Amino acid sequence: MSPTEQLRYKNMEDFGYGPNVMKKTKVCPKCRKMVNTRFRSCPDCGEQLSSETLFDYYKRQHKCCPECDTVLASDSLYCPHCGKQILQKVVGYQENNPQGGRNNET
Ligand SMILES: [Zn+2]
Ligand SMILES: [Zn+2]
Repeated sequence: MSPTEQLRYKNMEDFGYGPNVMKKTKVCPKCRKMVNTRFRSCPDCGEQLSSETLFDYYKRQHKCCPECDTVLASDSLYCPHCGKQILQKVVGYQENNPQGGRNNET
């Protein structure tokens, strides 16, 4: 990572957003406090925290680029960050295997 990029990420973290921050953040289900992922339970109310980070949650709610995890508009056809073409069903990787899926007699 170049120094400029590092600085950019640093700035984003200072402002409290960006994927790096979200990956290091969990939200307490009880008091909604933002908690660093190194905590297993909420330092405020003691509630047990799941292993799901804010980023995981965000990714579930939004369409994300499979390549670089950039959050996309729901109608995006290409990732604005890496240019990856976005297939229609990006949200939630389905268990269907891409090869043998369509072997019905239709
Ligand atoms: Zn809490
Ligand atoms: Zn991308």
